[in-house]
Amino acid sequence: MIDDDLRASRLTADKRPELQISFEFFPPKTDAMEEKFWESIGKLAPLKPRFVSVTYGAGGSTRERTLRMVRHITSDTGVPAAAHLTCVGATRDEIDEVVRGFAEVGVKSIVALRGDPPEGIGKPFSPHPQGYQNAADLVAGIRKLGDFDISVAAYPEKHPQSGSWAEDIDNLKRKIDAGANRAITQMFFRNSDYLRFVDRARKAGVKAPIVPGIQPIHSFKQISGFAARCGASIPDWLAERFEGLENDPDTHALVAAAVAAEQVTELLDEGVTEFHFYTLNRSNLVLALARLLGRRPD
Ligand code: FAD
Repeated sequence: MIDDDLRASRLTADKRPELQISFEFFPPKTDAMEEKFWESIGKLAPLKPRFVSVTYGAGGSTRERTLRMVRHITSDTGVPAAAHLTCVGATRDEIDEVVRGFAEVGVKSIVALRGDPPEGIGKPFSPHPQGYQNAADLVAGIRKLGDFDISVAAYPEKHPQSGSWAEDIDNLKRKIDAGANRAITQMFFRNSDYLRFVDRARKAGVKAPIVPGIQPIHSFKQISGFAARCGASIPDWLAERFEGLENDPDTHALVAAAVAAEQVTELLDEGVTEFHFYTLNRSNLVLALARLLGRRPD
């Protein structure tokens, strides 16, 4: 049986360095989705996140909606907003214009990404002839435009297009050296992959924080699909936990909460103090996880 002191050390943040959390949302497409978006932001904002980020649709397809959401988050909730931005299908001048637009509405944080071709991550990426070549190039471009807080992407299981680990970590280092403040990881479900990745990056001289991207499994079917599309693997033990729960939402929700709780408390025990949550515009599981990490609404 676990004694109370041990349990307290696992589940509270009392004697740890201050915890930093951030939340990722996507720009809603319909009025009903937008209502849900603001409802979730309203519940998560009192947790005092470092920022709430809003993704940028493939090929800049959500440019206007991303801008509108970050503008309102900044002006209406007082929580800092971060805008995602990709290099896909746009010239440097066009991207620079978007960055200036973010600055004009008070957005000081950008998640700078290369993005994927419209056919998906499996297809080779061809930069626009007058565009930024990759995320490192984009980071350098943003740095010239102002004093932004910049996050970049990292891949605990290696980016599917990196030929080797050395190539992958070199690319991360280029992004940090170009001026990024931190990396946020792709979703992962084996903490050992994340810890090994951080170790590799540190050995290569990457000193910036590498924040784990936590994806609560609201729907195993949906998240497995996302994971397959972005090159994250689903371990057999995880699939087994959700097996047969397709028509049992209550048990599914309980298993999802237990799985995510196990993941974040284990990372906390490993000394991780910064977490980025992929919310999919929902608040319930993330609220519970923040609570387990010791964060209460203000
Ligand atoms: P990069 O860091 O540029 O690298 C991509 C690959 O290209 C790597 O394998 C790298 O090694 C290789 N590479 C880079 N430069 C060179 C070079 N000069 N020569 C050879 N190879 C090179 N996508 C969206 O569309 N919108 C979003 O809002 C979004 N948000 C995300 C948020 C997070 C936290 C994460 C982890 C991913 C996000 N993505 C988003 C997905 C991302 O766009 C894809 O994973 C994309 O495939 C790579 O983007 P990157 O910024 O990591 O690219």
